[in-house]
Amino acid sequence: MNTKVVKFGGTSLADAQQFKKVADIIKSDPERRFVVPSAPGNRFPEDVKVTDMLYKVYEIASKNEDISEVFEQIKTRYNDIIRDLALDMSLDIEFAKIKNGIINKAGRDYTASRGEYLCGIIMSHYLGFPFIDAAEVIFFNNNGTFDAERTNAALRRKLEKYETAVIPGFYGIMPNGTIKTFPRDGTDITGAVVARAADAVLYENWKEVSGVLMADPRIIKNPKPIDIITYRELRELAYMGAKVMHEDSIFPVRVAKIPINIKNTNNPSDKGTFIVSHTDSLSENTITGIAGKKSFVVITLEKDMMNAEIGFVKRVLEVFEKYNINFEHLPTGIDTLSIIINEQDGETYKDVLFKELQANVNPDSIEYQKSLSLIAVVGRGMIRNKGTAAKIFKAIAEADVNIRMIDQGSSELNIIIGVNDSDFEKAMQAIYNAFA
Ligand code: ASP
Repeated sequence: MNTKVVKFGGTSLADAQQFKKVADIIKSDPERRFVVPSAPGNRFPEDVKVTDMLYKVYEIASKNEDISEVFEQIKTRYNDIIRDLALDMSLDIEFAKIKNGIINKAGRDYTASRGEYLCGIIMSHYLGFPFIDAAEVIFFNNNGTFDAERTNAALRRKLEKYETAVIPGFYGIMPNGTIKTFPRDGTDITGAVVARAADAVLYENWKEVSGVLMADPRIIKNPKPIDIITYRELRELAYMGAKVMHEDSIFPVRVAKIPINIKNTNNPSDKGTFIVSHTDSLSENTITGIAGKKSFVVITLEKDMMNAEIGFVKRVLEVFEKYNINFEHLPTGIDTLSIIINEQDGETYKDVLFKELQANVNPDSIEYQKSLSLIAVVGRGMIRNKGTAAKIFKAIAEADVNIRMIDQGSSELNIIIGVNDSDFEKAMQAIYNAFA
């Protein structure tokens, strides 16, 4: 039988009603064998996630103050779920152990991880699936990095013995036996790690949205979801600020070539977004998505006959390297070279950069311009489609926005456009309207 690994985010597990939806989803497909839950999240916008309550408990405990009040609120969140699902179980022994552990300084990560741990126990009772504690199968190195290979081997051996199981997300164990968590939203990572070890055909990541959106919904109203996106496209969008899955949560399934399907717990029949390593299918909108970031600086060097000067670019970049400054883009003309860096680095190092560039390459002029936004228009379909660039530039011109820079990667996977920060939203909207 094929195996699907299903991860559920906090909003999908916020209360008993959400638990029921999750169980319906799991039970409707026997291939959904391994379940990776987060901790209960927000039930309504102003609600507090259990993980945040746990971090608060930790802070209170580290000041040696009484944690009882907040700890009781956490207990109530779980007890309400148990009661409303009419489960014949009690977490009282666990609660007492955990409270004791927190008071006795079991640590910040231990405290935060209990959100997933307790949620996993309830989920395992409710589904009738065995519970595998992540501390038995997810390993970290001494320096705190994730031990992917040891984990994969141990988890693989473990899962082979199980028909179904619930494995809580977000945490694992250090060589010294203490609990360690992944970064925030780390249940995504656990899900991907489990999918790899289970040789899953699909990693389903269930959230409260119907997939990855074509653009940031804070800028574009109701953007369309993306049907299929490749890992490379996703990386381009994420790099430019799109809020999707963390790199670390994609890597384990990417190496194993397992597709990810982002699905909506509240609308399970929506197709969601498939994230794949390769696809021949082109997106119906030519472009796959748009993302962008504000606040970059352009430093432009001009020098007569620059092109004939061997090693010019190298000497320029050495200056940036010396101050550990990452450059984003490097558009060049015959006698000009521009280096685009983030505004914070620009403002911090402006004077030394000018001095050292002057000394290293002796340019005729150096110009420094702030407040540049970069917009990435990403799409594997651009390679085969003529006129994409024309369409983008026409849309921007019609929105009365001046383009300050254009850069097309040679992979033809994206076109980067620079506009003034003040035109950022207008330009994003214009590009979206032209394609969506
Ligand atoms: N509960 C953790 C967090 O809030 C991990 C997760 O939800 O993925 O960050």
